[in-house]
Amino acid sequence: MRKPIMAGNWKMYKTPTEAEDFVKALAPQVKDVQDKVILLCAPATALQKLSEAAVGTNIFIGGENLFWEDEGAFTGEISAPMLKAVGCSYVIIGHSERRQYFGETDETVNKKLKAAIKHNLNAIVCVGETLVQREANETFKVIEKQIKDGLSGLATRDWGLVTIAYEPVWAIGTGKTASPEQAQDVHAHIRKLLPKEIGNDVRILYGGSVKPENVKELMAKPDIDGGLVGGAALKVESFVKLIKY
Ligand code: PEP
Repeated sequence: MRKPIMAGNWKMYKTPTEAEDFVKALAPQVKDVQDKVILLCAPATALQKLSEAAVGTNIFIGGENLFWEDEGAFTGEISAPMLKAVGCSYVIIGHSERRQYFGETDETVNKKLKAAIKHNLNAIVCVGETLVQREANETFKVIEKQIKDGLSGLATRDWGLVTIAYEPVWAIGTGKTASPEQAQDVHAHIRKLLPKEIGNDVRILYGGSVKPENVKELMAKPDIDGGLVGGAALKVESFVKLIKY
């Protein structure tokens, strides 16, 4: 059984104090939720406060990015051991905004993924096509390359730490959501690309304008195992609705 994950990706929003207030308001409202993993991925500056506020709750904390070396002269970067030291058990890798604005490639995604796995950090690896690629009927081809190169060289045991997020770039932050059928088609295709022995165990999240109004029909699809949510995860009220869809 794949336990669904409802993950917030806060992007570049929230100070440490705002993050702490969020968890204090969220925790009592979701304390009885056992059928989903609740995850908040936050800016690095908020992680320490966020983890402290989440102690004793069922809320997991994650980073939004990491660098593949453990330490060194890499100004501005944060490593897997550093994320773990502030209480993270997850990290997002290869979000489309990182690919678009910070030059991330499938090769850097792969290095980051291996660094996360080496340190026993759960990784949420993002894949997804642009509108131009979808309209040129290249969605499957694009996803196949991202999966093949970004997730290459893993041992069977490593896959236990891997979650994939399908996030069509045209649906992120735009208010446009892939239809449940469009998303399911891609999720099923991704699952077929995974090694046979683990394919049914790997969670595949959908991301792209998930909100309380559309979460239920998306999550009803057999290969959609949760959501990676930006905008609707910034407010406690809507995030609670997503968790309790
Ligand atoms: C995201 O940040 O990964 C995302 C999907 O954002 P939004 O939900 O705002 O589209």
